[in-house]
Amino acid sequence: MPRTNLIERLAQRQAECARNGLLRRLRTVTAIDSTSIILDGKHLRSFASNDYLGLAAHPYLRQALIEAARDWGVGATAAHLLGGHRAAHAELEEELADWTGRERVLLYSSGFMANLGVIDALLERGESCVQDRLNHASLLDGARLAGAHLKRYPHLDMDGAARQLARSTDTPTLLASDGVFSMDGDITPLPHLARLCARQQATLLIDDAHGLGVLGPQGAGSLAAAGLDSTQVPILMATLGKALGVGGAFVAGSAELIEGLGQFSRPHIYTTAMPPALAAASLTAVRLTRHADDRRESLRQRIEQFRSGARQLGLALGDSFTPIQPLWVGAADTALAWSRALEEAGFYVPAIRPPTVPEGQARLRVALSAQHKHTEVEQLLDTLASLARRTAPVASAD
Ligand SMILES: *Cc1c(COP(=O)(O)O)cnc(C)c1O
Repeated sequence: MPRTNLIERLAQRQAECARNGLLRRLRTVTAIDSTSIILDGKHLRSFASNDYLGLAAHPYLRQALIEAARDWGVGATAAHLLGGHRAAHAELEEELADWTGRERVLLYSSGFMANLGVIDALLERGESCVQDRLNHASLLDGARLAGAHLKRYPHLDMDGAARQLARSTDTPTLLASDGVFSMDGDITPLPHLARLCARQQATLLIDDAHGLGVLGPQGAGSLAAAGLDSTQVPILMATLGKALGVGGAFVAGSAELIEGLGQFSRPHIYTTAMPPALAAASLTAVRLTRHADDRRESLRQRIEQFRSGARQLGLALGDSFTPIQPLWVGAADTALAWSRALEEAGFYVPAIRPPTVPEGQARLRVALSAQHKHTEVEQLLDTLASLARRTAPVASAD
């Protein structure tokens, strides 16, 4: 028997996706700012960005990055433990700890690496990792990397979570969940999860990639909004590339946790530290975000405007009060058709299809920003109205 050619097998998988109309398409975009892009030569209003507060192109962030690059150059030149850890990193860690109300913080180069790094450092082979079925791919992969026993529960189902925890009460267990779900925009019942974990002596990890900057006092995130401290939620992970508009990520918690991760979290140790200029820009982003109640208020108004308009049109909205507003359309090709029609009308709203979301739950993922104008959301709703008139009414996902 000849050995399977791995690249051919990959090509066959791709051909299979193409046959099912599920190929992902990479498109090169020129971003003017968070709400306006040029795609294939055409100016579009973007409803696709995670830059919820409009900080990615903020003049203070640009200035911080430029000045830091001028003073220290671009790259960190080494891993944190081998000379790559600069004053800008240290200052950013301190500011993030103060903001999130945690003792200490450890930086990672990306959120994906942070989730791999924290789960792999904590769990040993054969131990349990209980997770919401719709958790981000990096949380699921973290459990795989650790060789842990992954036990998933139905989305937001606290009885399901309790059942998974009760199945092996003597196995060390980490329960991990998105705070705000990246494709659905809904929020996990945090106080409930915290109580459950306390009762079952499981360790709780919350990934607040989409809550940080947007929710809670000073935008400190979904845990701050729920009033949960580090005894109730000992591990907080969040990213700097969404509402903060930069890139990179961090884990926040007790000094004990952070010291341990610094020693044993391989995706932190064996990688080049984030460019110090990005740490400086992130520090500026955090300071701006803490004082951005006006931006959070504009965002809240746009979310409300979009939801009430979509409801009047009879569109199938998700149960989300965050900037992530899924519009369920069901079939993958319908989602694609709507996305294309929106693009023709001047809006960029990507279709999200399996395998990113479960089969039959294809959707348009509308992401709102504090930078969207009232009239822009109105125009999007008008276009959706004409699409809805042309298409059969959409069915709700649940
Ligand atoms: C985006 C995202 C990540 C990954 O963060 P990056 O910094 O982009 O690698 C992790 N978790 C969730 C929930 C996310 O939405």
